Amino acid sequence: MAQAPVVLAPCPSALGPLDPAQIEQLIRKSQEAKEFAYCPYSNFPVGAALLTLDGKIFSGCNVENASYPVGTCAERTAIHKAISEGYKEFRAIAVTTNVKDDFVAPCGACRQVMREFGKHWYVYLTKADGTYQVKMVHELLPGSFGPEDLQKN
Ligand SMILES: [Zn+2]
Repeated sequence: MAQAPVVLAPCPSALGPLDPAQIEQLIRKSQEAKEFAYCPYSNFPVGAALLTLDGKIFSGCNVENASYPVGTCAERTAIHKAISEGYKEFRAIAVTTNVKDDFVAPCGACRQVMREFGKHWYVYLTKADGTYQVKMVHELLPGSFGPEDLQKN
């Protein structure tokens, strides 16, 4: 018996890149979230701001723990907040650190969590001064495994 076809959500990239005001707002929200980072062990504060397809922004910071593996990253904090409030279609996420000279990329775990919710949305990697580099989720995690792969079985 044939499997039912997988129906994918509309590709967020069909909406095109964010306009400059949206980018500025998202980066500002990620900078604000960074101020709440709880990172007494790494002293590496990270802030993230996630834009849903319908224009809502969820922010997040890294939250470390004395039991190190229990800590979580800013990106996953923001995504999990959005999911827990019923949002699962994303257009972009901005990630900000205090690093001045380079763009800091999300860790592998965060890339996989981003990819769970689509390959074609934007990740703004932001320096401390607000300058940014933009990537798409599939560029950060090429050849990835996702929910639709489970349907191939
Ligand atoms: Zn991470």
